[in-house]
Amino acid sequence: MSAKTKKVEVKKAVARELLFGDLWDFDPAPESAPAGISERYGLFIGGEFVEPRSGEWFDSISPRNEEKISEIALANDADVDAAYSAAGKAFPAWSKLAGAERGKYLYRLARLLQDRAREFAVAETLDGGKPIKEARDFDVPMAAAHFFYHAGWADKLEYAAPGRDLKPLGVVGQVIPWNFPLLMLAWKLAPALALGNTVVLKPSETTSVTALKFAELIRDAGLPKGVVNIVTGAGDTGAAIVRHPAAAKIAFTGSTGVGKWIQRELAGTGKRLTLELGGKGANIIFEDAAIDQAVEGIINGIFFNQGHVCCAGSRLLVQESIEAEVMKKLKLRMKSLRVGDPLDKNTDIGAINSKAQLGRISEMVENGVAEGAEMYQPECKLPKKGFYFAPTLMGGVSQSHSVVKDEIFGPVLSILNFRTPEEAVEKANNTSYGLSAGVWTDKGSKYLQIATQLKSGVVWGNSFNKFDPTSPFGGFKQSGFGREGGRQGLLEYGELV
Ligand code: NAD
Ligand code: MN
Repeated sequence: MSAKTKKVEVKKAVARELLFGDLWDFDPAPESAPAGISERYGLFIGGEFVEPRSGEWFDSISPRNEEKISEIALANDADVDAAYSAAGKAFPAWSKLAGAERGKYLYRLARLLQDRAREFAVAETLDGGKPIKEARDFDVPMAAAHFFYHAGWADKLEYAAPGRDLKPLGVVGQVIPWNFPLLMLAWKLAPALALGNTVVLKPSETTSVTALKFAELIRDAGLPKGVVNIVTGAGDTGAAIVRHPAAAKIAFTGSTGVGKWIQRELAGTGKRLTLELGGKGANIIFEDAAIDQAVEGIINGIFFNQGHVCCAGSRLLVQESIEAEVMKKLKLRMKSLRVGDPLDKNTDIGAINSKAQLGRISEMVENGVAEGAEMYQPECKLPKKGFYFAPTLMGGVSQSHSVVKDEIFGPVLSILNFRTPEEAVEKANNTSYGLSAGVWTDKGSKYLQIATQLKSGVVWGNSFNKFDPTSPFGGFKQSGFGREGGRQGLLEYGELV
């Protein structure tokens, strides 16, 4: 052997960057299952659809193309009163029914929803604008899962509070938002019914369709009349639900502003209250994290459901040593996101829920730029009709910038960096909200240590936006109080005696 060993020339591997974004056009692949949406929906009171006493109706349009898809009854005070009265009449028998019998109804609702899952997914996408792959693979199956889970509790309530008796509260008023219309309905109805409460529920005015389709399932399931009443309308209808003297509890999910108003309104009434409000979640990426997975987690954290997510990871906190690499990969990944028709199975980012929300997002981004933020958007063609907003990064910002402080509720991510874990925690907690956070690191101990220091209802480790009916969800600070899901969520609908 010669002393001189031949040096092997090592070629540096260059990662291929595959860009599918706008390089070529795909054929459209629209979901073709019929949505089964009626031309007109009355109010669901006392087990049947009735004409509104108000005599008024409003249009529900599709943010996908601004076309009217249905006409919805506008409930006034008298309609809300009729709904409470039906719920009040139904309460004695429903609450006395054996838990196992109530469970059977909940199982039936879950199965009926599964039977018609495709139809519900298409309806949800048409009415609200979310990508069909999300409605199909997340919203509808997760809504069914909540009914299955709470059906299981209905005959095991003695285990929910060992040694104590858990009694239903009475008639519960529930008001839900437009970002996960069917899923929020499931989060609200399933635990209330499992415990033997009866309900008056109002969906958001921009997304009432799947709640009304669910009313059809309630009718088909043979649920005793008046156990669930669904009234539709906007803020005034919601306020009538909140103020009605027959409500034993109000459960609200929506904006922090309305949540504060409700809390003031209920002060001194003795009504119970749970609030699930806004958020400004931190997604914290440490230098020891698996970068490619973290980038996927950042994308999911902010672009899932167009960023209309109260627990969105809307503040990226990235360790300074890897910031350049993460930003390069993140921008590359954003170029591959397909924005457009939510009914297309290939769409990643669908339509913004309403014209009003599109206006709010645009204004907040403009304000951010005026304050000095550097905006990045990948090139993408947005449909001409409908409400669309390109995925957006806001860089060069500090903690005092409005885009870092305020919830945007759209596909807009603000970028901050940090050097030490202490700084990450300090910045993550520097917000008036406290709903969610993500921590990306390959050290389990680091995750656990950081998670305990974050003032946040949920902290995901090396993941984001993971949900399960068994896991309680809720906020700290101005994100609200009370929990939904799990045993804790169940207990919010009962009185311990
Ligand atoms: P919103 O609070 O106005 O609406 C939520 C629900 O409350 C709707 O059903 C609405 O009709 C009803 N409502 C409105 N005013 C009411 C009142 N005075 N009394 C009772 N009910 C009332 O929220 P929005 O305008 O649809 O969205 C605006 C902001 O809310 C978003 O930008 C976001 O910050 C936040 N939001 C949070 C969530 C969440 O899941 N936490 C969901 C949707 C919206
Ligand atoms: Mn709509």
